[in-house]
Amino acid sequence: MGDAVDPSAASTSLLYQGTRTLLLDCGPAIVKVALRALGDPNELDAVWISHQHADHCFGLPTLLLMLRQARRSKTLELLGGPGSGAIIQQLLDIGYPGAFRAPKCFPIHFSEISPSQTLEFAGLRLSTAQTQHGVVCHALRIDAAGHCVCFSSDGKLNNATLALYREADLVVHECQSVECESINHCRLADLPSLFSVANVHQLALVHCSSHERAAVAERSRFLFGARAFMPEPGDSINLGRPIGCWTR
Ligand SMILES: [Zn+2]
Repeated sequence: MGDAVDPSAASTSLLYQGTRTLLLDCGPAIVKVALRALGDPNELDAVWISHQHADHCFGLPTLLLMLRQARRSKTLELLGGPGSGAIIQQLLDIGYPGAFRAPKCFPIHFSEISPSQTLEFAGLRLSTAQTQHGVVCHALRIDAAGHCVCFSSDGKLNNATLALYREADLVVHECQSVECESINHCRLADLPSLFSVANVHQLALVHCSSHERAAVAERSRFLFGARAFMPEPGDSINLGRPIGCWTR
């Protein structure tokens, strides 16, 4: 999975399919892939938007328009951190003005999840923490019966996100480079504490620079062994225990 300017790989979105179905981030490249994976336009329960950068949310207007055209009827939850509702609404109004308002469109409901609260969402417990990034960006934790998955989206690991990931079965975390220092992005050298402090079980490394991907993979094998891996587009993981079952 690439970074925002990778010519060979799309940026990362995650389709969570449990008792509810959530799309985590919605860059332009993921829309048609996600719709093919869903099949039924009513299957998607919510879309989580981590932050306003284009590679993480500019696919949303197209996704909603295609769901409308497919005659979706169910309410869609749009989720994000504090302040995300106004940004998402602005994005939708710029993309397709008026297209997502009643009665033209299925109902859309916004929920902002503050790091100080937990949102109960149809059997899932959703929690957030702000990452260290160039704009406000929130990581998401999903707790469900029997498993926990976390999604960092963009940004450096910090004490808040490290606490959010504690004991997670799977953390999908950005890792732009092996050791190139950045104030907005993570390097592999920042991540050992996911295991030593947060006791995370498995780590998926995404958002790698194209010229660093091979080096990140090699160094990750040395540092973390089978506990970390770099998924390819279309990979899936079964979070039912025992975890670690990947298919493509
Ligand atoms: Zn970003």
